[in-house]
Amino acid sequence: MGWVVPPPKRPSKTANEFTEERRKKVEWLIQQGLLRSEQIIRAMLKVPREEFTLEMYRDYAYLEVPLPIPGQGATISCPHSYPLFYEALELKIGDKFLEIGAGSGYGAAIAREIVGSKGKVITIEIDRKTYEFAVSNLQKLGYEDILIILGNGTLGYPAEAPYDKICITAACPRIPPPLIDQLKMGGKLVAPVGHPNYPQDLILLEKKLDGRIEISSIEKVLYVPLKGKHGFNIYT
Ligand code: SAH
Repeated sequence: MGWVVPPPKRPSKTANEFTEERRKKVEWLIQQGLLRSEQIIRAMLKVPREEFTLEMYRDYAYLEVPLPIPGQGATISCPHSYPLFYEALELKIGDKFLEIGAGSGYGAAIAREIVGSKGKVITIEIDRKTYEFAVSNLQKLGYEDILIILGNGTLGYPAEAPYDKICITAACPRIPPPLIDQLKMGGKLVAPVGHPNYPQDLILLEKKLDGRIEISSIEKVLYVPLKGKHGFNIYT
């Protein structure tokens, strides 16, 4: 298992072609049973994924591969992973949502479209170059109320805690305890758990209303490593 990234090239597709590719992608995700909720469908149809890639990978925006973005080992995850995470989380209007690994900012934009102005999106990125890429993409598209933090996401973001939903978009050795602490009672967290060189288990963690923790496995996925404390100290 691994990803084959197509060779970089000068982009040639038009805005209409991208809109059509986006529509077809959403149709395919629905057919696959990965995309079900009306609000998530609407978000996937609205957010222009091609604005979150590097220019040299723009034409590949709707391929099922993670594409390189600025920063060490950073990628924009493949399209199907967003409904996979957000349907499992049952992300919905009004949720306060924390994302670990802002990457391109695409996941945060989709989440903001789902939670709406009554909800809130906070996203944390550890790599400065990646952080700057996410900030510029989100600013360009007018996502002004998404809070983007430069720092180690495994520590969470206590200032805005507790959260209804949390997602970790990098492979972690185990779910970082501070993130479980910052989850609301009745909240949900999704994370790839396992070694970065092998397929990981996508884990759904539920914090029940009485504080009990329930864990279930969704499917196998392949993500870049989570860095820093509670992550893999590969680059830090
Ligand atoms: N959600 C992103 C994809 C993220 S890829 C998107 O939609 O584009 C994983 C990202 O996690 C990388 O950008 C990597 O730099 C970041 N990352 C790794 N460890 C981290 C940590 N401890 N805290 C915050 N971000 C981290």
